[in-house]
Amino acid sequence: MAEKEGMAGKLYLVPTPIGNLGDISRRAAETLAEADFIAAEDTRVTVKLLNHLELKKPMVIYHRHNCETAGPAILQRLEAGETCALVTDAGTPAISDPGEDLVALCAAHGVAVESIPGPCALTVALSVSGLPTGRFTFEGFLPLNKKNRRAQLDALAGEERTMIFYEAPHKLRATLDDLAAVFGPDRPMAVCRELTKLHEEVLRLPIGEAVEHFAAQEPRGEFVLVVGGCPPRDEAPDGDAALARAEQLRREGLPLKEAAARAAEEFGVRKRLLYNQITEKEGR
Ligand code: SAM
Repeated sequence: MAEKEGMAGKLYLVPTPIGNLGDISRRAAETLAEADFIAAEDTRVTVKLLNHLELKKPMVIYHRHNCETAGPAILQRLEAGETCALVTDAGTPAISDPGEDLVALCAAHGVAVESIPGPCALTVALSVSGLPTGRFTFEGFLPLNKKNRRAQLDALAGEERTMIFYEAPHKLRATLDDLAAVFGPDRPMAVCRELTKLHEEVLRLPIGEAVEHFAAQEPRGEFVLVVGGCPPRDEAPDGDAALARAEQLRREGLPLKEAAARAAEEFGVRKRLLYNQITEKEGR
């Protein structure tokens, strides 16, 4: 739909610091100062930022649990010509944060949306990870449910791009265990903790060592996990030979799981990876 020029207001997506208040940009601060009102995930968090900027602004709450009613109310004000700055507790709105639905709502109603560039945990983590950055996939938070989490990771077993995950400290150990099971303990990763904060830490190590590290040390703070992609098939040792052997076993009538397990053992490759490769080839 075409934007209604001159009539409607505008929604500004304003990124806020992920730890270091110095990261608020001049443009972000000006946008907050100039907007008619601010839509905030948690006004108690945002008021601290506004105090830092010496700003006083009318605020409305927009979060996961009220977006169905708050979204249309904000839209109505935008359509009446007001401008709104959307902020969340930290980082870029709409990235694993409330905002996605509001942007879609505005887009569907022809209301202009402008995104101000700024802090985002995923880009900070990826850039400092030391892993390939040319191609990557952002996976956000993995599902809470163990079975769903494993299913989502299993689907990434053959992923060649660098993978980025957000994780909460109380779920970190379980997630690292799952990463080791699916990608193998030798896969390189970067555990990025408390980025931009006083206790910022970036551990670049194989997944297995990360498991050991956090078995001995309680995970604390905020985490982004960056995991190296699967080596391209032709670089994987004996990968093609193992796949050929598994396919031969399948032709001989062995069930998929057994064929993958036997060929994996014979060629010293990972069973899950092989299983996924055969599934992909057989179009299952
Ligand atoms: N919209 C935000 C952004 O642009 O990064 C992300 C919001 S999401 C609800 C919060 C998650 O982001 C945390 O659980 C953590 O995984 C990651 N995160 C946010 N700040 C971080 C920091 N300072 N250090 C490491 N991870 C951080």
